Amino acid sequence: MRLKDKVAIVTGASRGIGAEIASMFAAEGARVVLAARSMEEMEQLRQSISRQGGESICVSTDVRSRESMKNMVKTACDAYGAIDILVNNAGYPMFGYAVDDEDEEAEKRYEAIMETNVRGYWYGARFAVPYMKEGNRGSIINISSVRGHLGLANETAYCAAKGAVKMMTKALAVELAPYNIRVNCISPGAIQVKVGHWVLSRYGQEIYDEYVEKFRDVHLLGMECNQPLHMIGEPRDIGYTAVYLASEEARFVTGSDIVVDGGLTSLLPEPGALDMETLVALHGKQGPMNQWFQSLG
Ligand code: NAP
Repeated sequence: MRLKDKVAIVTGASRGIGAEIASMFAAEGARVVLAARSMEEMEQLRQSISRQGGESICVSTDVRSRESMKNMVKTACDAYGAIDILVNNAGYPMFGYAVDDEDEEAEKRYEAIMETNVRGYWYGARFAVPYMKEGNRGSIINISSVRGHLGLANETAYCAAKGAVKMMTKALAVELAPYNIRVNCISPGAIQVKVGHWVLSRYGQEIYDEYVEKFRDVHLLGMECNQPLHMIGEPRDIGYTAVYLASEEARFVTGSDIVVDGGLTSLLPEPGALDMETLVALHGKQGPMNQWFQSLG
């Protein structure tokens, strides 16, 4: 077991990537503190971990609240006596507004994204680090995104937040190296989770279902054009990386950003990344072009 007897806090552990990281940590022998707002979902995860012989506790946590984050760390320490690993994963998924969109919801969402995805990560480190310093060891893993590497229209807040996470990671890595605390981040690409698409969070389930029904093909074509591995990742793809970074196997790794994105950020973008009409036109012409190449023998 690669994390035997380690104590790990995972924020955003009620579903998606965080829930998967938490159960993979438990399977590797860590005692895991599950932190999020949805207690019911976390309790189900705790029971599932327990059925598989693992150990975890749930702490109701809102990463936007300083007191709640302080309480999360204290509860972890009271329960298990130390903190070895912190995964800052809780995220407000996407933005979905033009910078000059007059809807006042845009400003509220900007604040929510910054408070959840940036300040929440900083609070996590702020309150967990004293315990890690005491133990003279630690691994902090921050979940960023490919959107912290490259920009997208209508995603200013989310891209800015994820870029900030990358730089927070590097600065913390430098600051905490003398205490044997490693700090790294993971930048996922497209990972299949139940919620998280900006159309869902802005317009609700009905419009989201209509969007998927109408434009799924365009979305998949976009992926085919822009992502070398034509598949959507799963939460466990991030989980494997988190287990590695948390384990002794990564003892010489700090300040790193591991991109898990099917090659998305390695490719020079096709026009589809900017403009879907051009993407569809491009695909229309590519078939005949390929046939022409084949006819050349
Ligand atoms: P998800 O399924 O929507 O899960 C988000 C998690 O964050 C939930 O457990 C949610 O729990 C928690 N959370 C949100 N706000 C919170 C708050 N104020 N306090 C405490 N917990 C909060 O999303 P996901 O896709 O797994 O995302 C996990 C991380 O990966 C995020 O940082 C996201 O930006 C990043 N990411 C995801 C993808 C992707 O394709 N899925 C790609 C790149 C990066 P509660 O609602 O119960 O509090």
